[in-house]
Amino acid sequence: MADFDLFVIGAGSGGVACARRAGGYGAKAAICEDSVIGGTCVNRGCIPKKFYVYASHYREEFEDAASYGWSVENVRFDWPALVAAKKRELTRLDGIYERLLEDAGVAYLPERGRLVDRHHVEVGSKTYSADTIVIATGAWPVMPEVPGIEHAISSNEAFDLERFPRRIVIVGGAYIACEFAGIFNGLGAETIQLYRGEMILRGFDEDIRTTLYEQMREKGVDLRLETNIEKIEREGERLIARTTRGDAIETDQILFATGRAPNGHGIGLVEAGVELNRKGAVIVDQWSRSNIPNIYAIGDCTDRLNLTPVAIREGRCLTETLYNDNPQMLDHRDVPTAVFSQPEVGTVGFTEAEARAEFEAIDVYRTSFRPLKHTLTGRSEKVMMKLVVERASDRVVGCHMVGADAGELIQVLGILVKATATKAEFDATVAVHPTSAEEFVTLAESLREAAE
Ligand code: NDP
Repeated sequence: MADFDLFVIGAGSGGVACARRAGGYGAKAAICEDSVIGGTCVNRGCIPKKFYVYASHYREEFEDAASYGWSVENVRFDWPALVAAKKRELTRLDGIYERLLEDAGVAYLPERGRLVDRHHVEVGSKTYSADTIVIATGAWPVMPEVPGIEHAISSNEAFDLERFPRRIVIVGGAYIACEFAGIFNGLGAETIQLYRGEMILRGFDEDIRTTLYEQMREKGVDLRLETNIEKIEREGERLIARTTRGDAIETDQILFATGRAPNGHGIGLVEAGVELNRKGAVIVDQWSRSNIPNIYAIGDCTDRLNLTPVAIREGRCLTETLYNDNPQMLDHRDVPTAVFSQPEVGTVGFTEAEARAEFEAIDVYRTSFRPLKHTLTGRSEKVMMKLVVERASDRVVGCHMVGADAGELIQVLGILVKATATKAEFDATVAVHPTSAEEFVTLAESLREAAE
């Protein structure tokens, strides 16, 4: 008999969810981790990022308070205090993760795991046998090969900088770059964001891309398109970023948010015969099964949809299938997602361009307005909301938003898209007034743009 029914390599969100649920169903499960428990989301991603986003919002809140009769004086920001508060909470969360595993009867091995063969995992000096093995090793930031790249940081290091940079250059145009540009700009750093392409957020709806670009610039991020870094030089405490446009930008920190690569190498996968793709991701089917029948992989190491809740669902589907006689696979379509940029982005379903390619005819409803709050503050901040509707069925197949709380709203709109709600059903819903969200149920005929 094997030592374990299930052995999970990697205790991030996906791995922990998988092991816990398997334990809950009575499987004898183990999980190993060579870094801090909780993985990227808890320690170097979603959670600390959201704390820093909250922190960075205060600057505008303090500024706006005067428009509502408050006087806020002697405002100053203390970076070490934020870092320390974040560390305290993450330590607490790490403890909770360990306890959750313990409560589910899962053996937690805080060391690096390596596949020895299809049924054996080496952890430290011991080798364990397991009927089923799950790879949940996540992904890691990719730093491009630019001369002087050793002077730059990735998002991993950004959270714990000893000193808050007065000036920062951020490279990239996707989730992480836009989120960190908002954070550092909000916290008071002179922030330059460089993106190599024509418009940030490639793959998102065009209206989201252009609205976010304009609004980020409006808020003070010096966002430069079609620009990349060619070389980095250090001059004492200062860094010089030489760009493809021939500029030399003097700065205190350079953060590359240029993508993440699956953690598939160096853990014995190739030796055990597990097939990886060119990027090093484990190739899996819809059941998260690799080419080796008892080896599965979930989360970012499979490079499907690299989002924490997706990894968790993939892990849970797997345990439902294996240990609860309830075969489940995750539908990777219509997954709502948010970019915690400033302003925030929320999106679910088809972009306008994708819908045009998919359906014979669509209708697009769009609005852009100044939210009520800013009629007093005088800020020019705009909210953009958009519905993409398949004309034949009247089904809302895409919802997109840029504006405050877009992440909160898109979660609920995601339910409607999943439930195949129609535009008529949106219209039949009475508005909640005064909110920004009410625009989603009052997108009127007059704003309708017929699309061929
Ligand atoms: P992405 O892989 O999404 O984007 C990488 C960005 O860097 C793109 O803008 C890309 O440009 C650019 N880039 C890539 N290589 C280079 C290079 N050599 N020089 C200059 N620019 C380059 O990565 P992220 O790091 O933003 O995010 C990683 C993943 O993490 C995402 O897939 C996302 O799913 C997840 N994530 C989710 C979050 C959330 O849910 N809120 C938050 C953060 C991350 P181009 O567009 O031209 O390819």
